[in-house]
Amino acid sequence: MSHQAHSKSLSERYAQLCQSINAACLRHGRDPSAVCLLAVSKGHDHDAIEQLYALGQKRFAESYLNEALKKQQQLAALDIEWHYIGRIQSNKTVAIANDFSWVHSVDRLKIAQRLNQQRQDKLPPLNICIQININDEASKGGISADDSLSLAQQISLLPKLRLRGLMVLPQRTIDFGQQRQAFSRLRQLRDFINTKGLHLDTLSMGMSGDYEAAIAEQSTKLRIGSVLFGPRPDLSA
Ligand SMILES: *Cc1c(COP(=O)(O)O)cnc(C)c1O
Repeated sequence: MSHQAHSKSLSERYAQLCQSINAACLRHGRDPSAVCLLAVSKGHDHDAIEQLYALGQKRFAESYLNEALKKQQQLAALDIEWHYIGRIQSNKTVAIANDFSWVHSVDRLKIAQRLNQQRQDKLPPLNICIQININDEASKGGISADDSLSLAQQISLLPKLRLRGLMVLPQRTIDFGQQRQAFSRLRQLRDFINTKGLHLDTLSMGMSGDYEAAIAEQSTKLRIGSVLFGPRPDLSA
C-alpha cells in the first residue's frame, strides 16, 4: 500500500468515525461536545499519529509504556495530550506520573500514592480514573465495584492527583443491550460515589465495538483504536 493510499484511508476512517460518533450522540440525546474521542494508538507508529494530528486529533491513548515513551520522543514537537490506559507496574510509575496528562487504569492505592509522590511539582495535578472490574473477571485489571468508593475517597486526598472518574474495559459482547448494561452499571457507580461528596465528571468507556452503547450511557471519553487505525499487529503481552 502506498503511503498516499494509507494516509487517505486513515483520514477517511477518521471522518467516518467522527460522523458516526456525532450521529450516535444525536440518537441518544447527547451533546457531542461532551463526548471526547481518545485515539488509541498502541501498535501504530508515530507516522499514523502525525497524520491524525494534522487532521485535528490532539488526544492519544497508549497501553504499553515503552512503546508510548518512544513515540512521545518522536513527537515531542506536537502538542499532544497523552493518556495512559494500560496496566501499571509499580516500578514504572515515574514515567507514567510525569509523561502523561491522564492515567485511566489506577486500581490500587499503592499505585496512586506513587504517582502522587512522583508527579513533579511544576506540573499540574495528574488526572486519574479508577479502573473498575465490572464483571469481576480474574484476567482483567481493575478494582471491584464494592471497593471503589473507599479507593476513590483515599485518592481524592492526594494533592498531586485529580480524581476525575471511572474507567471500564467490559466483557466483550456484540449484544447492544448487554453492552449498555455494563456501562450503565459504571454510570450508576459514578453517580453513587458522587452522592458521597466526590465530584467525578468522567466516564472513560466505549471502544471500537461498543462505543454507541457507551455514548447512550453517558460516556465522556471514548477510547477507540482499531476502527480508526485499522487492525493492529498482535501485541498481546
Ligand atoms: C486497546 C484498548 C482500547 C481500544 O480498543 P479498540 O477495540 O481497538 O478500539 C481501549 N481501551 C483499552 C484499555 C485498550 O487496551
